[in-house]
Amino acid sequence: MNRHIALVGNPNVGKSTIFNALTGLRQKTANWAGVTVSSASGAFFLKGIRFTADDLPGIYSLNVRSAEEAVTREALLTEPYDYLLFICDATCIERGLALLAQAAELLGRREAAFSSVSEAALSPGFPAGSPRAPQFLLCVNLCDEAERKGISIDFSGLEEELGIPVIPASARKKHGLDLLLARLSQLEDASGASAEKAPKFFIPGELAARRVRYSTQNYRKREERLDRFLTGRITGGLTMLLLLTAVFWLTMTGANYPSALLYDWLFSFEEILSRAAETLHAPWWLSGVLIDGVYRVTAWIVSVMLPPMAIFFPLFTLLEDSGYLPRVAFNMDSAFKKCRACGKQCLTMAMGLGCNAAGVTGCRIIDSPRERLIAILTNSLVPCNGRFPLLTAMISLFMARRAGSLFSALLLTGFILLSFGMSFFASWLLSHTVLKGVPSFFTLELPPYRRPQAGKVLVRSLLDRTIFVLGRAVTAAAPAGLLIWLLANITIGGTSLLSLLAGFLDPAGRLLGLDGVILMAFLLGFPANEIVLPIILMAYLETGTLVSMEDSASLYSLLTAHGWTVKTAVCMAVFSLFHWPCATTCLTIKKETGSLKWTAVSILLPAAAGCILCMMICVGWPLFFH
Ligand code: GDP
Repeated sequence: MNRHIALVGNPNVGKSTIFNALTGLRQKTANWAGVTVSSASGAFFLKGIRFTADDLPGIYSLNVRSAEEAVTREALLTEPYDYLLFICDATCIERGLALLAQAAELLGRREAAFSSVSEAALSPGFPAGSPRAPQFLLCVNLCDEAERKGISIDFSGLEEELGIPVIPASARKKHGLDLLLARLSQLEDASGASAEKAPKFFIPGELAARRVRYSTQNYRKREERLDRFLTGRITGGLTMLLLLTAVFWLTMTGANYPSALLYDWLFSFEEILSRAAETLHAPWWLSGVLIDGVYRVTAWIVSVMLPPMAIFFPLFTLLEDSGYLPRVAFNMDSAFKKCRACGKQCLTMAMGLGCNAAGVTGCRIIDSPRERLIAILTNSLVPCNGRFPLLTAMISLFMARRAGSLFSALLLTGFILLSFGMSFFASWLLSHTVLKGVPSFFTLELPPYRRPQAGKVLVRSLLDRTIFVLGRAVTAAAPAGLLIWLLANITIGGTSLLSLLAGFLDPAGRLLGLDGVILMAFLLGFPANEIVLPIILMAYLETGTLVSMEDSASLYSLLTAHGWTVKTAVCMAVFSLFHWPCATTCLTIKKETGSLKWTAVSILLPAAAGCILCMMICVGWPLFFH
């Protein structure tokens, strides 16, 4: 036997948490509104009956003002659900009840239509004889928070008034889920498969008020004070800057040591592989391609990328889970409005700091197609985690050579702010030229502050983000390693293809304050930005395989021997901020926009920005530094 159940409710009330607990799936949960844009499906068994569950997008009403509302309304009207599980937030139950009443009315109207028109003509998706109206259940979640806020709810009174099962729950602690399943099972026993199940109609509002008692307001006062501070004109901006610097400082200083350890470990393994190849008498080109090419590039990327990501992503997830990120979006909203873009773009930019492909996908939280496109096209102007190692190398080797790590973190923050500034400018430019329009209005809920769960933060940031991004980088790196090895080892007239290419690109590179080798490395780094620096070293040393420069002194002397100055490092850092999105991001942009034209724009836009800025630096440098 099969049953179909939908989870419906306002955003951020714990729908995904309950859905995951029921189905055992790992649907992404987050402490900001609008995480579930498309619905997710899963299944669970209860007394031998298979329940297919849909986690519908969180909405405030069924008025079809947003993409989420359209998806949920459509599903409620067309899917033959047996049960609708409404989930509401115990700390503001009125909002949840208003949605419940709207849904009851909507389905009631459909019910009336059914009795006058032939069932098949109205909704061909409904199998003949299936129950017309779903049975409603109400789960009042976040009871732990309500308790802390001094809110008490008369659940049995509420159940009596609504005429549907009302289940109190604290889903995060898994409280109330057994009761939920027990009530579902009771309904199943009572109604049987074919019974008509009509929702009872009611008017929310002062009903709800009678059943809910707010005994103290102190808790709210504390939140309000915190909000005034974090979203204040000056304090809000300063806090954002301070947190950003702290995150970068922790990422930079914390990653050095584990990076070196991981590097040693992975490269000691390379020796074992080489010896094995010798013992097996593998031809030189085979061990060259596989060990010096594919393995070495992959090992390099893992050791350079993994530690910073393993620090950055948990920190980012902590900020996200605590409810701070929507406050950042709130602070930045007026700046985005001035650029005629959407304030939620700030959230997608924050995601871009981790991985641009994830940031581009995240743009789905923006409803207006015009503003979504602006956010997609400008996302790669924000540097992803893969570009951090290059930026930090340029900072520590050339710009903050004798300064401490705090100064380096401040410089890195400065570069990130430059990238944010460029995103604003590009958004402004797009919305005043090819993507003209007025900014739309959107509701951004400031969720309550919540203490992040350490376990969930670790699992989500390490498994969902770190391993995911790393996996993609490695899949891109392996073929890149192969190509680079071939270019370095195939020679024409005694010169490798790599050197020929670098020579060809040299004039263009010099124009940008770089050189042919650097420009070539950026081109070959298209699959993954992390390999830009190793390619440069390989080309300078003419080793034919990727090399490492473990100590910064020898790295510094190699680069200066090839004419690098502080100006080169600044141009290099600027070009690494603004060039073209990596292969994965380009594919994601193509998928999200469905257009080759916009994908081309997303490549040309940052590339043009980088070229113009680098040329300006070259022209302006001699005027300021003699
Ligand atoms: P959705 O947007 O409705 O799907 O909500 P999520 O399931 O993504 O949850 C939003 C946030 O609320 C997450 O940070 C959850 O960990 C948190 N959350 C969910 N249920 C509870 C609960 O019962 N108590 C508390 N304190 N937090 C919860």
